[in-house]
Amino acid sequence: MSKEFQDHQIRDVIRINYKYTMGGHSKFFIELMNNKKLLGTKCNKCGKTWMPPRINCSDCYAPADWVELKQTGTIEVSTIVWYTTSAFIKAIPYGIGFIKLDGAETALLQGIFSENLVPSKIKKGKKVKAVFNKKREGKMTDFFFVPEDEYENWISKPEYEGGE
Ligand SMILES: [Zn+2]
Repeated sequence: MSKEFQDHQIRDVIRINYKYTMGGHSKFFIELMNNKKLLGTKCNKCGKTWMPPRINCSDCYAPADWVELKQTGTIEVSTIVWYTTSAFIKAIPYGIGFIKLDGAETALLQGIFSENLVPSKIKKGKKVKAVFNKKREGKMTDFFFVPEDEYENWISKPEYEGGE
């Protein structure tokens, strides 16, 4: 860069009001919001059960049907989050991981919260259960997972509830 050039920067904010569609996956978000159900899909050709759901099977491309999955699952891999966006900054530190719900053959990336977060609480193979926000908007942030032994404590908090 030339020594004569001096960059002048002004910090500003752009607000954008917009909406977007979940398209063929809308049913997942509507059932999550209204009924606290976690829906996956099952391929009607090869029988693979997808979570997150796929409208068409990603292995054989055949159409898949909606199926309700259990709200318990197993951690496949996880980590603890220390740096995040403004949307989640108050939750730091928290876990995220790939959770394979009981009955599903693929894993869902989702938050894993713990009252006493240490790596051993959210390690591979640990059982977790879904907890739902009482105020839901049809978004992935409407629910999260907790270690199975903390489930009753989490759903007794005023802002959360169990799904089943
Ligand atoms: Zn298939």
